[in-house]
Amino acid sequence: MRLDLSRFLSSDIERYDFEGELALNDTNLDIDDLRIIFPIKYNGSIYDLTGELVLELNISYDFIANCDRCLVEFKNHREANYKAYNFKDSSFYDEDSIDEYFEVVNDSIDLSEIIISLVVTSLPGKNLCKEDCKGLCPVCGKNLNEGECDCEVEEETEVEEKVDPRFEKLLDLFKDEEV
Ligand SMILES: [Zn+2]
Ligand SMILES: [Zn+2]
Repeated sequence: MRLDLSRFLSSDIERYDFEGELALNDTNLDIDDLRIIFPIKYNGSIYDLTGELVLELNISYDFIANCDRCLVEFKNHREANYKAYNFKDSSFYDEDSIDEYFEVVNDSIDLSEIIISLVVTSLPGKNLCKEDCKGLCPVCGKNLNEGECDCEVEEETEVEEKVDPRFEKLLDLFKDEEV
């Protein structure tokens, strides 16, 4: 989806506000693994600073994630924002800040590409179903958010010590002597 700026660019208006919903991923970026729930809501504005354009964009979206502690699948929400520039004189353009540059082609910008890229870079590295998620019991695997399990707190002492089979016979001999 491209955002048409032709009326804005040919007018004396200094600021153009826009908002909407991106209904699907119509870019070449592969985000199938990210489990994004469309539509992605967006709003933003483009303003003219003596010939140079500034783009400000806010997005909000939902996605499916698995909790890092209890593994339960849940719907997560995220908001992100973005600011970028378009310089008519390309000598102002600094290669090092390529992320902050947006292209105007045929008086329009590729809004989908910008939105989807922002989704990819704004996804959290860690997902918790809730702040105080209790996670899973390391012994029985029960989801402790649903209640306590019957496992002993000191489960480590219950683990049987593995005896080297070569010593097992010796131990048996000692046992016989003790009897
Ligand atoms: Zn959880
Ligand atoms: Zn347990």
